[in-house]
Amino acid sequence: VRAQAALSVRDLTVSYGRAVRALHEVSLDVPQGEIVTVLGANGAGKTTLMRAISGTLRFHGGVVSSGKVTYSGVSLNTSPAHRIVETGIVQAPEGRRVFGRMTVEENLKVGGFHAPESTKKRVFDLFPVLAERRKQRASLLSGGEQQMLAMGRALMARPKVLLLDEPTLGLAPLMAQTIARTVKEINEQGTSVLLVEQNAALALRLADYAYVLDVGQVALRGPAAELAASDEVRQRYLGIV
Ligand code: ATP
Repeated sequence: VRAQAALSVRDLTVSYGRAVRALHEVSLDVPQGEIVTVLGANGAGKTTLMRAISGTLRFHGGVVSSGKVTYSGVSLNTSPAHRIVETGIVQAPEGRRVFGRMTVEENLKVGGFHAPESTKKRVFDLFPVLAERRKQRASLLSGGEQQMLAMGRALMARPKVLLLDEPTLGLAPLMAQTIARTVKEINEQGTSVLLVEQNAALALRLADYAYVLDVGQVALRGPAAELAASDEVRQRYLGIV
């Protein structure tokens, strides 16, 4: 039996324009304190799901045509994105989306203008390289370091649920492992995580529970360890041999 969901998605159907239905009656739970991962091939609807949760869907031309997203029982469907952040649901931007001409420290400030000093200390403890390079322009960081900065920026808003969209994309294996370890650490400090990943092996090692999206629908779900152990699942959905 899973813990009661903090973030809950119910029967969510999302379309872009008239022609493209990107999600069809998707339901998913992120219980307090868990890492939940969403896996799926290109175009399966992972990014769309993140947008629907973070309230940014309409900026991309999408609409929720039915279903709902709730946090602690409160509907977020009609909440603007900034309100959803205030509720405690914060998406880390892609690593490439940090402000390159601003310093590391200025980027963090954007994430949480009113954050107490202790929050910045938490971020610097999690990512020591950001502390070392705090005065440098973000554009001078490596891809992996920019990803760390993006995550650090999200943490400055002190999320209850951290949304991560492919944080290891394009990173060398060693850097991907470092990011994965840090996600675990963030979670152990009490932040729930919804992790979208193409790297199924890495995500299943990290997560408590997993969903596999296939053309906009939940094709499979279960404890991450069970999915990782099933040969059928590995071959059919995850491309792991
Ligand atoms: P990827 O890993 O490639 O980003 P994904 O699983 O995140 O894939 P989505 O980006 O959510 O998938 O896309 C789901 C479907 O919605 C795809 O068919 C895609 O072409 C379509 N789609 C996504 N964004 C838009 C948009 N802004 N306008 C129209 N169609 C879109």
